[in-house]
Amino acid sequence: MPACILVSPVEAKPQNGAVPAIDRLRVVDINDPHISVLDLGVTRGDGIFEVLGVIDGRPHGIEPHLRRLSKSAAMLDLPALDLEAIEGAIHQAIELSEPVPERLVKIVVTRGIEGDGVATCWVIALPSGGFESERTEGMSVAVLDRGYPHDIAARAPWLLAGAKTLSYAINKAVLREAARRGADDVLFVSSDGYVLEGPSSTLIAKFGNRIWTPSTALGILPGTTQDSVFKYLDSRGFATAQGIFGRDLLLKADALWLTSSVRLLAPIRKLDDDVIPVDRELTDDINAFLKDRTS
Ligand code: PLP
Repeated sequence: MPACILVSPVEAKPQNGAVPAIDRLRVVDINDPHISVLDLGVTRGDGIFEVLGVIDGRPHGIEPHLRRLSKSAAMLDLPALDLEAIEGAIHQAIELSEPVPERLVKIVVTRGIEGDGVATCWVIALPSGGFESERTEGMSVAVLDRGYPHDIAARAPWLLAGAKTLSYAINKAVLREAARRGADDVLFVSSDGYVLEGPSSTLIAKFGNRIWTPSTALGILPGTTQDSVFKYLDSRGFATAQGIFGRDLLLKADALWLTSSVRLLAPIRKLDDDVIPVDRELTDDINAFLKDRTS
C-alpha cells in the first residue's frame, strides 16, 4: 500500500515559553481527499518538491534532498521548513509502505491556502522500479531548446531556475515532444547552445579519465545522484569536474548518462540521430554502487 503523511512543516513558535503540543505528523489514507481546492500548490503550482529513492528499505540521500528542499523554499520565499519533522515523516512513510525492492518517497510543500500564510506539506511513499532496461540498454534522447540563455540564473533569479518547483508541466510536455520524435527522454540546451540537464535528470559525460557535468551556475538543479556518482568515481581515480560546454562536445564523449534518484544511471545510446557509445561495464558498476548505498 502507498503511505501518506501530512506534515506541519514549519516549527511551532513557543507561547509563554512553551512549545504548543501539536500533532506534527498525521498518517492519512492516500485515497481520501486532503488538499483544499484553494491550495496555491493546486491552483498555481506554487510550491516545491523532492523525490528520493528507497532500495531494499534503505532511503538514499535524505540529507542532500532535505538541503535542496530547504534551498528551493528559500528561493520561493516560503517559510523556513522544519526539516526534522519532514525527515520523521519520510521514515514513517517508508515503514508504513509495502516493502517492495524499489520505492520512492515524494515530499511536497506548497504555499498553502491563499491568505493563510501556512504552508501545506505531505510525504508519500510508493512502489517504483521498472527501470532496468533504461539502466542497461540505455535511451535515445532528443536535444531540445530550454528557451532561455545559459546565464539566466544570474540575469533573472525571479524565474527560479535551479529551484525544484511544482511547475513541471513543461518538464512533462518535453517528454511528449521527445515521443513524437521517437526518443525516450530529453536533454535541454540553453537558447545560446549550452548543454543544461534533462527534465528530471542530470547529464554526466565521460572523456577518457575525465568526467564532466554541466555547471550549476547554468541555473540547473544540483543533482544528488550525480553528486554521489562523482564521489564514487573520484574514489576510483577519475577526475570529475563541472563545466560549460555545447552539444558538439558531447559527440566526442566515450559515454554519456542521465542520472536521477529513482531511475539511477541511464546511458544515452543515441543523441538525436548521433549514436553514442555505451560503456556497459562502468554503467553496471556505478548502478551497483548506487543501489548498495547505505545513505
Ligand atoms: N534535474 C532536474 C530538473 C530534476 O527534476 C531532477 C530530479 O528530478 C534532477 C536534475 C536529478 O536530481 P536527483 O539526482 O537529485 O534526483
